[in-house]
Amino acid sequence: MTMLQKQTIKNPIMQYGGEGVSWRTLLSSIHNLLSPQGVSCLVCGKMISAIVRGYPELCHVCYASIPWIMKPRCYTCGRPVGCPDCSRQSAGSRNFILNRSAVAYNATMREWLGQYKFRGHEAYGPVLSRIMGWAMTRMLRELATEQGGISIHFDAVTFVPISEERLMERGFNQAELLARGAASVSDIPLLALLERTRHTEKQSFKNRRERLHDIQGLFRLLPDVAERLESVMQQPSHKPSLRSRFTSQYNATRARYSILDKPSDTPLTLLLIDDVYTTGSTIDACSEVLLEGCSQLGRKGEVYCLTWARS
Ligand SMILES: [Zn+2]
Ligand SMILES: [Zn+2]
Repeated sequence: MTMLQKQTIKNPIMQYGGEGVSWRTLLSSIHNLLSPQGVSCLVCGKMISAIVRGYPELCHVCYASIPWIMKPRCYTCGRPVGCPDCSRQSAGSRNFILNRSAVAYNATMREWLGQYKFRGHEAYGPVLSRIMGWAMTRMLRELATEQGGISIHFDAVTFVPISEERLMERGFNQAELLARGAASVSDIPLLALLERTRHTEKQSFKNRRERLHDIQGLFRLLPDVAERLESVMQQPSHKPSLRSRFTSQYNATRARYSILDKPSDTPLTLLLIDDVYTTGSTIDACSEVLLEGCSQLGRKGEVYCLTWARS
């Protein structure tokens, strides 16, 4: 884990948390001494007078404009406000267990994501990725609290794929970058598991009905999913966390640990990443395919989702 990532985990809470003022003042002075002179803010272009810990690209004003979702009000989709979507009857048939998002998708966050995704402003990448790392830490903490202090163990982190055409045009998949940010926090294997069956126009221009129609049969498993899962899980360095819920099933005397060797009633637990949660139809469709994949491997599956922004 790099220094930057370590800083990221602590950042938003510690920044405005209950630490002593003298420490903050001292740290801020040290940051100022160490920071190169004349660095301008990535977002507003103004000179940065004091470095924000973990986010050296941003001035304090732009950092303070990030609408962190500190307390999701909807347990299922992670929305920070009251949520009619999840109280609908159809919501009970969702294929993922829950979604959490790092930030609310307001105009500022739309602009930041757009700068990276559509306008090729690569310097936004590390910022978005660190924000995702923070959300991951927060989600792990929330789930552990819910399970009486027992950490959840994700077998793999994966992401919503983009089409070949989009990949050629853009050169990268933003969800993969975000997944990298999330995976790095807990050293979880990052795996591409899905692909798109066809190219579709941008979802953001479509209404709910059009999106749902578009999404039918849009995703499928990559042909070598079983091998991908196996190859990652058999790396000798990969062991479940000490406090994982699977600890009792892990035989420490075995040199190699295999995901598919776990008892068949133990679900494969996957974390799915995307950039924006709007209706949830994309991550739901991907979750459905992932669950089918688990079942093809003779295993139950559980899919949790983490998205960068919640609209
Ligand atoms: Zn700024
Ligand atoms: Zn909801």
